[in-house]
Amino acid sequence: MINWTGEAEMGRPYWWEALEESVEDDPLKDQCDILVIGAGYSGLSAAIAAHDCGAKVAVVDAGVPGEAASTRNGGMFGAHPRLGWEDLAGRFSPEIADAVFAEAKPALNWAKQLIAQESIDCDLQVTGRIQLAWTRKQFEAQKHLTGHVARSGVDVHVVERGDLGQEVGTNRYFGGVVFPDHCAIHPAKYHRGLLNAVRKRGIPVTGNARVNGLERVGGGFVANTAQGKVRAGKVILCTNGYTSKPFNWYARRVFPLPSFLIATEELPANLIGHLAPGRRMMVETRARHSYFRVSPDGKRILFGGRAAMRDIPLAEAAKRQHETMCSVWPEMKDVRLSHVWTGNTGFAFNHLPNVGEDRGLHHAMGFSGSGTVMAPYLGAKAAYMAVGDKRAETAYADTRLKTHFLHPGGKPHFLKAANFWYRNWVDRLENLRAR
Ligand SMILES: Cc1cc2nc3c(=O)[nH]c(=O)nc-3n(C[C@H](O)[C@H](O)[C@H](O)COP(=O)(O)OP(=O)(O)OC[C@H]3O[C@@H](n4cnc5c(N)ncnc54)[C@H](O)[C@@H]3O)c2cc1C
Repeated sequence: MINWTGEAEMGRPYWWEALEESVEDDPLKDQCDILVIGAGYSGLSAAIAAHDCGAKVAVVDAGVPGEAASTRNGGMFGAHPRLGWEDLAGRFSPEIADAVFAEAKPALNWAKQLIAQESIDCDLQVTGRIQLAWTRKQFEAQKHLTGHVARSGVDVHVVERGDLGQEVGTNRYFGGVVFPDHCAIHPAKYHRGLLNAVRKRGIPVTGNARVNGLERVGGGFVANTAQGKVRAGKVILCTNGYTSKPFNWYARRVFPLPSFLIATEELPANLIGHLAPGRRMMVETRARHSYFRVSPDGKRILFGGRAAMRDIPLAEAAKRQHETMCSVWPEMKDVRLSHVWTGNTGFAFNHLPNVGEDRGLHHAMGFSGSGTVMAPYLGAKAAYMAVGDKRAETAYADTRLKTHFLHPGGKPHFLKAANFWYRNWVDRLENLRAR
């Protein structure tokens, strides 16, 4: 019997321990040029970009600004598309696939530059990221992918199974692919830095102001929020995995897929050194999509993944994540957990984010589990579009958001069936193939 939960903080992200004081709310502005809905990375970045182009901007959020995905994530900082080149070419076109691959490096550099320009202290470390292949076939597919990645100017290299010991202390994987330019951040400090940059510009950020209705009036909008009405010339919707009514058109196209994370108790330095000798950000190829890393202070392992595709009790999620962690590192079986939490990724049916516009209503969303770089990057692109700035250009204006017949709107009930399918079929099959 393992004592894996101990006295773990249930539901509170480990990252929040580093945020000393809470931030005061600004009163709601009744008028602005651009209203940004959502105060995560994409909304805050949109606000900065629109303001710096001369617009009068206001930001509203349904809850406490930043308490959604942007302070709950794994802090893996990179911009590599989730799908391979052939898959993207098939779903969109070869030109769009090329353009999306080509934008990975500029997007990463742009986000690093944002951190430098705003002097954000978010424990940024250039650790590199390794994608670890769970099966032989997945390793072959990864090697194939590196060709396309390298042609787009991104630094990448293959690690054969025999050399993997320098990267990770397990023999579970068939090999890996390293993106040396990818980084680690502290996600909550990153969010707080962006929030400070917004505040420094005098942009009001109002929490607990859910937009319950958005009317088109004259050439602009009136947003009906929980704290009153706001008139705005244009609106930028940055609600990603938390998109719901009244934004039904978007909620049909970007659905909430939960991801779960555990943090271990502090571990001895020699154990951390054995588990993660490469100190990289680590992600797996298996559909369970585990991702793991050492905490910025070097003392804990943070281990995330798909404990379930719908909300489940956190004690159960903790148990499943712990078991998955032990399938990689059996020596972790007696390690206790300090924190267990979850958050919503905003998944697009095409697995790629999108920026776009419908008559003055702009959006940046669909980050599909990878938004520490792409959310602020595309938030800024949406803002440039809204103000008519030529920096708006991006391949992600062409990555159309799709509907799916299994998700006609409302709650994503199809995830129950998907959850059953993945846990009982896909995961088992992958484990058989991994032998
Ligand atoms: C557990 C987890 C781990 C992850 N790990 C990584 C990782 O390691 N690397 C990576 O790159 N990405 C990761 N991601 C994804 C990344 O965190 C997100 O893509 C990114 O934070 C999205 O930012 P955002 O600003 O678009 O959305 P969010 O930060 O989710 O913010 C959306 C905001 O919209 C607000 N909102 C919704 N509806 C309304 C309304 N009607 N009115 C007003 N406000 C509204 C919400 O309250 C919320 O604050 C992870 C995500 C999760 C959940």
